[in-house]
Amino acid sequence: MSLQDRLARERELDRGSAIVSNCRKCGIGATRRNAVYGEGDPCAKLMVVGEGPGETEDKLGRPFVGRAGELLDKMLLSIDLPRQDVYICNTVKCRPTLDVGHRLANRAPTPEEMRNCRPYLDEQIDIIRPRVILALGAPAAKSFMGERFSITKQRGQWFDGPSGIPVIATFHPAYILRQTGGAMTEVKKLVWSDLKQVRARLSEPVPDAASQPEQHTLFE
Ligand code: URA
Repeated sequence: MSLQDRLARERELDRGSAIVSNCRKCGIGATRRNAVYGEGDPCAKLMVVGEGPGETEDKLGRPFVGRAGELLDKMLLSIDLPRQDVYICNTVKCRPTLDVGHRLANRAPTPEEMRNCRPYLDEQIDIIRPRVILALGAPAAKSFMGERFSITKQRGQWFDGPSGIPVIATFHPAYILRQTGGAMTEVKKLVWSDLKQVRARLSEPVPDAASQPEQHTLFE
């Protein structure tokens, strides 16, 4: 990957982020504090796609920085991927909220919100061209694999995603955190087996690497 390519991707992502911060396609564009476009390595081999920003993410304008984010960081490190080496984003870029009187609670994004936001996610995928997409939780998984996707039955299986990029789904870290005792251990075991699949896929040689001309760039 040349430095020019990396800088070009960064510029494109910055442009996408600026567009999202002015987006008002949905009502949640008016209630958010910050849009949460995504962050990470523009040349990442792995893109992680969650559901949507929560309260902490909305406050800071960054994805997965609350409790679920802490667990996600640990999950990634368990397969030797520091957070900064992957690209992390969500199916929707604004925090979906529910007015419960004295405060705004988190809620799942509606299908319309996910549809409205999809072009931004597709553009991120086009720019980054990751080797693997990891979808966290049922809403993110369904956004790639279709409404009939079952997170309990089909997590850990490979599917063809946008532009043929392999997609795999696992349980959302927030779901793991809601489990207790033996149930949590069981869920963690399943997630660990899914993560190992991601690691194995990323460790496979790039299919057409041998046919690519070698690039010589100083100090890359
Ligand atoms: N949950 C998500 O799905 N995304 C975030 O960014 C944070 C929590």
